[in-house]
Amino acid sequence: MTKTPKLIVHGGAWNIPDEYVSAHLNGVQQALSKTYPLLLDGVSALDAVEHAVRILEEDPTFDAGRGAFLNEAGEVELDAVIMDGSSLDFGAVAAVQNILHPVSLARKVMEETEHCFLVGQGAMSFAQRMSFEILDPKALLTARELEFYNSIKNKTDFETHHPFEFQPRDTVGAVAMDIHGNFAVATSTGGTARKLRGRVGDSPIVGAGAYADNDLGAVSATGWGESIMKVVLSKRVCDAFKEHEAITAAKNGIEYLEQRVKGLGGVIGITAKGDYAFAYNTPRMARGYIEGGAPIVDI
Ligand code: ASP
Repeated sequence: MTKTPKLIVHGGAWNIPDEYVSAHLNGVQQALSKTYPLLLDGVSALDAVEHAVRILEEDPTFDAGRGAFLNEAGEVELDAVIMDGSSLDFGAVAAVQNILHPVSLARKVMEETEHCFLVGQGAMSFAQRMSFEILDPKALLTARELEFYNSIKNKTDFETHHPFEFQPRDTVGAVAMDIHGNFAVATSTGGTARKLRGRVGDSPIVGAGAYADNDLGAVSATGWGESIMKVVLSKRVCDAFKEHEAITAAKNGIEYLEQRVKGLGGVIGITAKGDYAFAYNTPRMARGYIEGGAPIVDI
């Protein structure tokens, strides 16, 4: 017997300004409405999360693919992970440049190599070997991010995780359960503003930025990566799905993040029973899920 598929996505957790709200809601809605019909047609959860994240990577609203933050040198460096909850196989890439879809490169790492994680130059050589289009660096750069970079590049008091000017933002993620009851998750990011070259946050780290296990469910995280990694947030919330209702498990994870390491961020997920979960301790988190066949988006 087949199941009703589930899909939930996010587009980052931070103090999203009013003028960006509609672009975030629209981006999340597009990812849901273009992906859910595929799940109904029977594509795998893995294909669905890759598809949804590719849409979000293409959208310049988000800090992933096109529109990503710039590092201290004014360059885009991208991180992504994808995980299959049926086998626990995953693929990840970090600090990759000049490609639009790091989530698809992460999937190639999972499926075409005997490894799980490639970084930097090695990941780029692999992208070339896999015939990924290598773009001009300007192709991923938006005027908004260039302007923001110029405004902070010489600021001596700039802090990524300042509680009132919280900057990590717009990482994207998707969690799906397909008609066979298999789970998958993908998370993709440009990281944090003015990060050191080579800095890797939580997003591509399995268990931190994402986790999927058919026995538990699946979770994608967003927020201040240095805090999320310390509490291995996505795995923590997945484990909590065993004992708590979906929303309680997500809230407990975020409370722990805040209390234990003064962390900031949000999570989305689906429990093994198929219930949606989300929670965040930032002023806003762009997210949406499919209920009764229709997208429900909020921020
Ligand atoms: N978690 C990401 C990072 O620290 C940023 C974000 O979620 O917006 O790289």
